[in-house]
Amino acid sequence: MSGVVNKVMQDTKIVKIDVDKIDNSLIEECANILNCGGTVAFPTETVYGLGANALDPKAVKKIFEAKGRPSDNPLIVHITKIEDIFPLVESIPQKVYPVIEKFWPGPLTIIFEKSDIVPHEISAGLSTVAIRMPSHPIAVKLIEEAGIPIAAPSANLSGKPSPTKAEHVIEDLSGKVDAIVAGGDSNVGVESTVLDMSGDIPMILRPGGVTKEMLEEVLGEVSIDKAIEGPTEIKEAPKSPGMKYTHYAPKANVIIIEGDLEKTVNKIKELKVNYENDNKKVGIICTDETINKYTKSIIKSIGSRNSPESIAANLFKVLREFDETDVQIILSESVDAVKIGQAVMNRLKKAAGYCIIKAE
Ligand code: AMP
Ligand code: MG
Repeated sequence: MSGVVNKVMQDTKIVKIDVDKIDNSLIEECANILNCGGTVAFPTETVYGLGANALDPKAVKKIFEAKGRPSDNPLIVHITKIEDIFPLVESIPQKVYPVIEKFWPGPLTIIFEKSDIVPHEISAGLSTVAIRMPSHPIAVKLIEEAGIPIAAPSANLSGKPSPTKAEHVIEDLSGKVDAIVAGGDSNVGVESTVLDMSGDIPMILRPGGVTKEMLEEVLGEVSIDKAIEGPTEIKEAPKSPGMKYTHYAPKANVIIIEGDLEKTVNKIKELKVNYENDNKKVGIICTDETINKYTKSIIKSIGSRNSPESIAANLFKVLREFDETDVQIILSESVDAVKIGQAVMNRLKKAAGYCIIKAE
């Protein structure tokens, strides 16, 4: 007999909450689920999160199960008041306070040495814990009402683009979690910046909503983890793009074309013809400035190059929209990797499995 047991689907309550007129009785209902060890997905300003009681290992395990998340990937703990940090950490280095003061609540996660009450499941065996104070009014009310720290990774199936709309969460997690709060769109659109301040020079482990430039204003020199860049780019288009890095990825293979904008457009056109001659269905990710330069394919703009914030807000939605089409290859322009563009390019490169072609 096979040892595989299909997990029974459960009822998932969809709770619609208007962010401009938050119904406290609905918040109470969801907080109650969290207090009873259940899972609730809810909007934050970055992306939707899948929440559970961070201090209850059984509840935390439900997050990993619902997402299909590898257990060695640690979770961020969400709080609403500075005092909430104290029980979770060994100590708070003095230099962290100005950062907290400036960027919390908001899209910044800070790494601390963890205290013993933080379960192993949260830290994935590390001695540290990642903590964030979100600013989204629904997230804040829900965490406050629950009165416990809430672990909340992005509310997508592991490997898929993070959810910025309630519909994305419903698509991924219906039948797998206790409740989903449908509370409008996440407006930052990329996950929080993860900052490690344990060394002499603060280091960004993941670029996000709070940019390197913003952090440098408060901290002086800030470095970026080398791993963020990923492997170096390849020069030629692969005949059949290989195994993808399984993050933020749509079903189609993504290829990024990098370089001067005019050359990029030309290279994308050339690659499109090549792939189509190979009977592959091709889609294009472009920007408002270039959308009129392409013809005869599924073309989606991620926004204007003059508004990197709008590009960040649109990226995951656009990646998900390609799953509703039958394209097999997505050729994507790149954007400037400065300010929030750094987070955009980091996610896009992961979606592409670091398949990057230079337009020359
Ligand atoms: P998600 O909430 O799905 O965006 O994933 C949380 C991410 O936060 C992880 O993938 C890590 O990159 C980061 N993270 C969480 N805890 C830690 C930690 N203790 N040390 C370093 N990074 C962490
Ligand atoms: Mg995630």
